[in-house]
Amino acid sequence: MEHIGVIGGGTMGNGIAHVFAQFGYAVTLVDIKQEFLDRALVTIKANLERQAKKGIIAVNEVATILGRIVTATELKAVANGELVVEAATEEPALKKKIFAELDALCPAETILASNTSSISITEIAAVTKRPEKVIGMHFFNPVPLMALVEVIRGLATDDETFNTVMKLSRALGKKPVAVNDYPGFVSNRVLMPMINEAIYCVMEGVAEKEAIDNVMKLGMNHPMGPLALADFIGLDVCLHIMEVLHRQLGDDKYRPCPLLRKMVAAGHLGKKTGEGFYSYA
Ligand code: NAD
Repeated sequence: MEHIGVIGGGTMGNGIAHVFAQFGYAVTLVDIKQEFLDRALVTIKANLERQAKKGIIAVNEVATILGRIVTATELKAVANGELVVEAATEEPALKKKIFAELDALCPAETILASNTSSISITEIAAVTKRPEKVIGMHFFNPVPLMALVEVIRGLATDDETFNTVMKLSRALGKKPVAVNDYPGFVSNRVLMPMINEAIYCVMEGVAEKEAIDNVMKLGMNHPMGPLALADFIGLDVCLHIMEVLHRQLGDDKYRPCPLLRKMVAAGHLGKKTGEGFYSYA
């Protein structure tokens, strides 16, 4: 495999483009506006320079790696990719439209992967004529730093596609973990209810927010407490994923905490708005 397409140059897409280019692949990064692509390249350059400072890559590699990334504002630019990783905005209708278009544009052997956090891979695959070649490649933020890739098999994903993506993830220095397609996969199925429960603890006055985070940091060795982590992820994203788990699994144990709903309604979304469980002035 040599050519990789990445759709979406936001938080995740720029990180995914970064790691593929870092490990020698030719990357075509697509977004809807050139300014988004320019911003992605600025971020990638800054992150590569940070890696060079830490000695992870050589200083003279920064330009070489950047030189492996080309940008485009049209999907057809990725038609030569052996793999396309979609990391566009988390909207089912948008992803289905992108996958239907990619299916029409790319050769039959191209693998189509999605970085979705909460949309069914099986459902995305069903809009294509190659559901056996559609798979989830769930990277974690920040992509250049985080070792995990959840590799998600849809109902129709074949062994060849799965094995190729596992191998490719290892070639990026990642540790891929095989998961089947169920709501939230493993990561969000386990993480989000924990965060939601921590928010119930705040709401019910079980302890102060700092105390809740300290229990999980000091007692469970988590690098970050669940409330600080929720602020980092974005409370709107946490609520959305809890709603997906609640609706799709149909079990009230996934009921989003009313305090989480209230904070999202108030626009207190965490770090990105400056206000969440903590203040980020
Ligand atoms: P983001 O909003 O930072 O970036 C999304 C990008 O997609 C934007 O630049 C947007 O312009 C672009 N886009 C929208 N429509 C497009 C189209 N038709 N064609 C090409 N580009 C298009 O979002 P993000 O946080 O990078 O999330 C992207 C995906 O990754 C989502 O599916 C999300 O669930 C998943 N994800 C996010 C995280 C995280 O921590 N942020 C972690 C794992 C997975």
